[in-house]
Amino acid sequence: MSINEDEYTTVRLPKELMEVIDNIIKSGVGSYKSRAEFIKEALRRRFEELKILAPTPELPQLEHFNISEHGVRILDRSLANGTSKGRIIDVYFKPNKVLCEYCGSDNCRHVEFALNIPKVRKILIGKGWEISKRIKET
Ligand SMILES: [Zn+2]
Repeated sequence: MSINEDEYTTVRLPKELMEVIDNIIKSGVGSYKSRAEFIKEALRRRFEELKILAPTPELPQLEHFNISEHGVRILDRSLANGTSKGRIIDVYFKPNKVLCEYCGSDNCRHVEFALNIPKVRKILIGKGWEISKRIKET
């Protein structure tokens, strides 16, 4: 992705402030990767306080990516901790069962979430697998 320089501007900040930010980044608190990331976050919060911008909508607790016939990777934000924004969880599909590697279960919220992703339904129903019977009709 290329950055259009016209869309950016710079601002001069006191060194002491920058050092504080650098220390925050170094310490790993909030897992900031750059000064810009920290400053954008700080500004966004201030805008929210001043009600200048509507708060950014809360991200969904569960989000999927990497769908295949073998399984789905799910990001579970409810399992976030100080250093990560969530935990990656694999849900595996087998012809006769489905398994969440995190819960070691075939009946947890991750499995339920996985089976309700339209693309997953299509794959599983297309294969005629036993587990496709567990997909709820909508
Ligand atoms: Zn699970």
